[in-house]
Amino acid sequence: MKYYSTNKKAPIATLEKAVVKGLAEDRGLYMPERIKTLDSKFFDEMPEMTFQEIALTVADAFFGEDVEPEALKRIVYDTLQFDCPLVKVTDNIYSLELFHGPTLAFKDVGARFMARLLQYFIKERREERGVRRDINVLVATSGDTGSAVANGFLGVDGINVYVLYPKGKVSRIQESQFTTLGKNITAIEVDGVFDDCQTLVKNAFMDEELNKHMRLTSANSINVARFLPQAFYYFYAVAQLGKGARPVICVPSGNFGNICAALFGAKMGMPVRRFIAANNANDIVYKYLQTGKYEPKPSIQTLANAMDVGDPSNFARILDLFQNDYSAISGHISGATYSDEQIRNIMRECYKENGYILDPHGACGYQALKEQLQPGEVGVFCETAHPAKFKEKVDEILSIDVEIPERLAAFMKGTKKSVPMSKEFKDFKAFLMK
Ligand SMILES: *Cc1c(COP(=O)(O)O)cnc(C)c1O
Repeated sequence: MKYYSTNKKAPIATLEKAVVKGLAEDRGLYMPERIKTLDSKFFDEMPEMTFQEIALTVADAFFGEDVEPEALKRIVYDTLQFDCPLVKVTDNIYSLELFHGPTLAFKDVGARFMARLLQYFIKERREERGVRRDINVLVATSGDTGSAVANGFLGVDGINVYVLYPKGKVSRIQESQFTTLGKNITAIEVDGVFDDCQTLVKNAFMDEELNKHMRLTSANSINVARFLPQAFYYFYAVAQLGKGARPVICVPSGNFGNICAALFGAKMGMPVRRFIAANNANDIVYKYLQTGKYEPKPSIQTLANAMDVGDPSNFARILDLFQNDYSAISGHISGATYSDEQIRNIMRECYKENGYILDPHGACGYQALKEQLQPGEVGVFCETAHPAKFKEKVDEILSIDVEIPERLAAFMKGTKKSVPMSKEFKDFKAFLMK
């Protein structure tokens, strides 16, 4: 499969190049040249298949031309060492719980898959050339991405990960998920804000001497190897609803990668009635869906902070998928937007009525379905993170004491290890060079 850039000004790339480079030369996002339709036999059999079997069929359609069958199977099965169960919340609303992975958020799926695919390409290259050259992954994080990437790559041979995070700006729960791992993961505590971390990473990619010295790559969310595997669990959700199901799918969205993967699923023939993109107060796409005008603006801080995005990067992929046709896009996807005060009320109401604890992100998804489902329809929303990840907020809003899952508690018991770093690039470079 070949990959083109959404900006259409970069050379066509192989899967390997798209994965290693992440972003195309023209700063566009890579898109597969073709999206294969899966045959009706697969959809008939899906309800009887396991999550891993379903995912392998979908993965084969994306990556089967570029990865050996046994290797692809190993990558998929290794990635999905946890379930994504569908839980009934009301008569016609189901929660697709995507938080059963190591860091309790849906980003685990894409990060784990990308780590294993990257390792596959490194190994192949090494065998060809007979030399070992590690890949160094740099990732700047304001919290969630760092933990998913660090844990996704933990213990993966041939890859070293450097997580840069702003000192004192990340919650203790989040920090513990990437500072206590050791092995091939190095946490770098930058004396600055998130933007300083991102600037250090960008400068590192542009520094010629550093790039001669070591192989650098990024693991941000626009990478095709992180983005496409997110389609797996949408097929599995439809399968869990049983034969003949055709749900409305609602995705709490920030950078719009997760919902975009679901749209790919629909193009492949997955039965789905329509989509809802649920936003917090960052309502750029909501406004676009209402008016056809896309007007990015600086993000505002909300309770659902992983969705605080003012110019969603994957929106370019959605435009490309629908050939910039506003009426097609607004025909398939409707929007919703919720203020922090609304999110609080939604969480309280859902807990009172259904006994189900929503996290602030999932709350947007649940409510959008509740408001927009028509009689006779069934809806699935993504619960994108475990409520315990936002324990302080959730406890305060619901007046409860959310139980911390074992694996999250285990991180918090670990010993923090991080490298203190100034925000000066020369210091960061000197550290990497030695
Ligand atoms: C990243 C994230 C989102 C937003 O997903 P996108 O793919 O960026 O739209 C939503 N909820 C949680 C908990 C997240 O971590």
